[in-house]
Formats: sequence, structure tokens, C-alpha cells
Amino acid sequence: MQGIGVSEDMRRACWIPIVMLALLAFGPPVLARSADGASVPPQARGLWPFPDDGVTFDNLGEGARLSGVSRTAPGHYRVTVLPETSPINPSPWYAFGIAAERPVRITLDMRYGQTRHRYTPWLLPDGADAWATVAGDAVAVSEAGEAAITLALPAGRSRISAQPPVRLDAIARWQAALVARTHADVLPIGTSVQGRTLEMVAFGNPQAREAVLILGRQHPPETTGMRALQAFVDSVAADDPVARAFLARFRVLVVPVVNPDGVADGHWRTNANGIDLNRDWGLFEQPETRAVATALAQQLQDRSLAFALDFHSTWHDIFYTVTEDPSRAPGGVMHDWLAELDRRFPGRIIERPGPAASTSHVFKNWAFRTYGAPVVTYEVGDDTDAGTLAQLADFGAHAWMRRLGATAPAP
Ligand SMILES: [Zn+2]
Repeated sequence: MQGIGVSEDMRRACWIPIVMLALLAFGPPVLARSADGASVPPQARGLWPFPDDGVTFDNLGEGARLSGVSRTAPGHYRVTVLPETSPINPSPWYAFGIAAERPVRITLDMRYGQTRHRYTPWLLPDGADAWATVAGDAVAVSEAGEAAITLALPAGRSRISAQPPVRLDAIARWQAALVARTHADVLPIGTSVQGRTLEMVAFGNPQAREAVLILGRQHPPETTGMRALQAFVDSVAADDPVARAFLARFRVLVVPVVNPDGVADGHWRTNANGIDLNRDWGLFEQPETRAVATALAQQLQDRSLAFALDFHSTWHDIFYTVTEDPSRAPGGVMHDWLAELDRRFPGRIIERPGPAASTSHVFKNWAFRTYGAPVVTYEVGDDTDAGTLAQLADFGAHAWMRRLGATAPAP
């Protein structure tokens, strides 16, 4: 809970700016990136008060996304959520607060511009300490992909979100604990478009001749991928024989958040320039991808890249690999790792190889072409539950460390 307090006086005093903010929010969204590459305008932040119902919506706080609210009947609202730019991958992230003066039952008609409803809503009622999914029959999705969400809210400010958020401060706390446990180096590797520091965490053997790279959060809404990254890295940093042996041989490089600006402004997909960072590898027109590539090149001056993992989320658990990767052949590290995962979690993970020569400028293909390393885009399902996600990441990390540890050391 962020503890944003909005007093009655403040609500009254805010009417004029609220109306202006609402006009801004309802106005035509700026959908195209300007030709000179200027950044997309940040979302207009504010409050949407409905005194007749005793309800106020807000999009205040990190990661919030809400573009407009109108009241269509008592207790009924049309909620508009628009992306930061267009065209865009259909990842309609929404997150907002609803402050109620008394317990209320309300219905939200969700509209996402050209995009269909995707994410099952999660609710954090005021006073609760854990997010919970909104029960199935409280969400009705039409043929056209418009969702009606019915909520029973207590008095106070509740929050609704497309996924339980994984905020930048929570990631920073997780990272600090990891650094303390592993005596990692935290390398500032550059700054985002909006000036946030990008960091690479490096641990394991500092003299290692081989490194592995783990990336996360190129795409802001992909929180199941973020949680999987955290669980996977925690297993690599565990105090157990498999991890200790692995860290004695390898240097582990982790960039937990490649796109912090997008996370902060509740973006559906892009960085603050409105660019999908996972379409910029090899082009390096964005500071975030440039920073990671430069830092990686420095780390690999006297080391080889043994493996790279890039964590994402999509509709299902899918591992995207590179067709030409020789380690996909039987006896190879990718083949044997995926086979071991399939034996432990039968049918759970789909492998989708794609050609390295793809012109889509995704990280995976660039990393394979540049360093020849086995590389996987580790996609976690939007609805993969926390327990399965953690089990898979822990088993997957240990199997991965054993398989990599069994390969012939780099010359
Ligand atoms: Zn993604």
C-alpha cells in the first residue's frame, strides 16, 4: 500500500485541476512518436471524483495506468485505458486506485482503445495485506473483448491492477538482499531516457573465464516473468552444493530491470521514447539497450558468454530459442536442459525455436549472432500461479547450473 491520502478538502480544492486533468485524459491520445524521436508524453496523472457515489478514481503512484473515467449510471463507470504509443503489442496494462467513502458495489466497463481485455484483474482492498484475483463470475468479457468488472469495495482506497505489481522499490530491496548474500558488485551501466540509473549485478567468480547473462523487465507489464527471474536468480545464489560449484566457475551478470521508465509510468510495452526495447538489439537507438550491450561487451573482454536468459511473460509458459543453436541437438546444454524440464513438468513448457537471422532485433537473436551462446527468451504465462512459477524457476535453475557445469570449460 502506498498510503496516498486524499482529504475531503483536497478533493474539493482539486475540482478545477481535476477537470483539466480529466479533459487531458479524455482528449485524443498522442499515439505517434514524433519524427525527431522525442519521448512519448507521460500519462496525465490525477483524480476522477464522483461525489454522488462517494467514489474517487486515481492513477497516482508508480506503475498506475488509467486514461479516463466517466459515470454511465449510479455505480457504473466506463474506464478507459490507453497505451503510451501506437501501434503496440496487445498488453493492456491497467492499474489504479478507487477511494470509497463507504462500502460500495460498482461495475467498471473496461475499454482499451483498439485492444481486447487480456489481464484478469487483481484487487487489493483497503486494509488487506495481499492481492487476490477478482473471482471469475465478477468479470464478464464480451465478444468484442470489452470487460465488465464488478467489485465490492470496503471504505478507503482499494487498488485494482492487471497483475500484482512488482514495483521498482521492491526490486531494489530484493537486489540489495541478493548483493548482501553474494557480495555482488553493483555496476551502474548507464541511465534510462528519464535519467534512472540502470544497474548490472555481478556475482560468482570474478576471475571466471565464462559468464552467464540474465535480463528482465524489458516489457513493464510482464510481472510473472519478473517474479520468475527473481526466483531463478535466488536459486543461482543459493547456499547449496550445486550453486556453490556453479559460482566457483561462472560469473553471473544480472540486469533485473532494463526498462525502469516504462515500469514507473505504467507502460504497456515501451520505454519513455515509445520504443519496444526488445526490437532495438543491434540497432541500439535507445540508451537502455546500449547500456546493457556496452556493459556486456566490457564483461566479455576476457570471458566467453556461456548462456543468456531473457525473462518475459505471455499467455503461456514458452521458451523461445534459436533454431541454429547447436546446443539444441541431443547432448547439448539447451536440449538436455529443456528435456529435463519436460520430464519434471510434463507438457508445461513449449519450446519455439526461431531463426537467428530474424530482422526483429530481439535480444535473443542479437545475443546468439554476436556471442554464439545458447540463449532463451523465458516466457512465463500471465496466469501461471506463484507456486508453479517458483517451483519451475528453482528446479529450472538447478538443472541449468548442473547442465552448464557439466560442459567443457572454455579454453
Ligand atoms: Zn516481453
